Amino acid sequence: MKADEKPNIKDLSAGEFADYLAAVKQPAYRAKQIWQWLFREHVTEFAAMTNLPAALRQQLDSSFSIGRLAILRRHESQDGTVKFLFGLADGKSIESVVIPEPNRLTICISTQVGCAYGCAFCATGLLGFKRNLTCGEIVEQILEANRSVSDGRRISNVVLMGMGEPLANYDQTLRALEIMIEQAWGLQISPRKITLSSVGLVPQIQKLMEQTNVTLAISLHAASEELRGRLMPVNRKYSLTELIDCCRNLPLPRRKRITFEYVLLGGVNDSTADAQALCRLLRGVPSKVNLIPFNPHPGSEFHRPADAAVKEFYQVLYDHKLQVNIRRPRGDDIAAACGQLQGQSQAELGNPLAQAASN
Ligand code: SAH
Ligand code: SF4
Repeated sequence: MKADEKPNIKDLSAGEFADYLAAVKQPAYRAKQIWQWLFREHVTEFAAMTNLPAALRQQLDSSFSIGRLAILRRHESQDGTVKFLFGLADGKSIESVVIPEPNRLTICISTQVGCAYGCAFCATGLLGFKRNLTCGEIVEQILEANRSVSDGRRISNVVLMGMGEPLANYDQTLRALEIMIEQAWGLQISPRKITLSSVGLVPQIQKLMEQTNVTLAISLHAASEELRGRLMPVNRKYSLTELIDCCRNLPLPRRKRITFEYVLLGGVNDSTADAQALCRLLRGVPSKVNLIPFNPHPGSEFHRPADAAVKEFYQVLYDHKLQVNIRRPRGDDIAAACGQLQGQSQAELGNPLAQAASN
């Protein structure tokens, strides 16, 4: 942040905000009023907070900004999926994808710029890690999508499956989840309708499931240590055995299952023997498996398996009584599907915020 920039009010924790209000001699209940304006009404200026005294509105305006994201590009797919390229204040960019369905409006959001985990098949992984998003930047993706939906609908479901590893940005992600879930002043999204996907960071997964009841998705992608190690470098730190042990012992509410994601890579992990190994691995774990046929992207050596191979893989799991879905790619004509999100470094050149930041 530059010296003359004001902090983003949405990045403050509850404690920090309480301290601020005390310092400016305001009652504590103002916090809730202000958050309602920010997260329920989506206001973009303090002047709009009409139930606050004028002096407080001015005070807030001189202390904070209401940080927004620049919409650098909005790309709509034939199936209605919308991909946003958002510019951040420091000129970096991230992507979010809105997926409309008749009875729900889902957004897939990013938690980091780039990602450090370098999974072999993932476009974001190729970028490497740039930085963590702040809580305000994570939540703002939802607010900005809500502002831009024309038919008055609001985002009802959130998946943390965009760019980055949410559990490697644990504190900011957790604060963002609190804002999404909060009923009195937040986005009022039920935790059941929020899915967090992790590459498999065991200690953070345990902590998350103690602290929240969001739906957990785990990126598995292979049923043996050897293959998972080749596809996902994280397996050297937290092995498949450790990860599955952790899953077995999570404090899950009754009837709740863990979603396991399995990207099907043609000729790599898509044989019936791989499917059988997956069934053995998940025996006794309350699971639901999402099969994701690989989404191709430039610079990748992998390919999507033939439909027949996908069906055969599915059938093995189904016959073993696993709950299993094949994830239909949405928005892949605009590279908005899983693992195709890359930000656009070239686009940064045209990002007005980037130009401002570099002046
Ligand atoms: N870092 C987290 C969340 C973001 S990735 C994670 O890895 O789980 C979201 C999902 O998309 C993960 O399951 C990831 O493995 C999958 N994915 C990545 N690249 C993909 C690709 N090219 N095709 C299909 N799925 C992909
Ligand atoms: Fe990072 Fe997830 Fe991509 Fe792996 S799949 S590189 S963890 S974003």
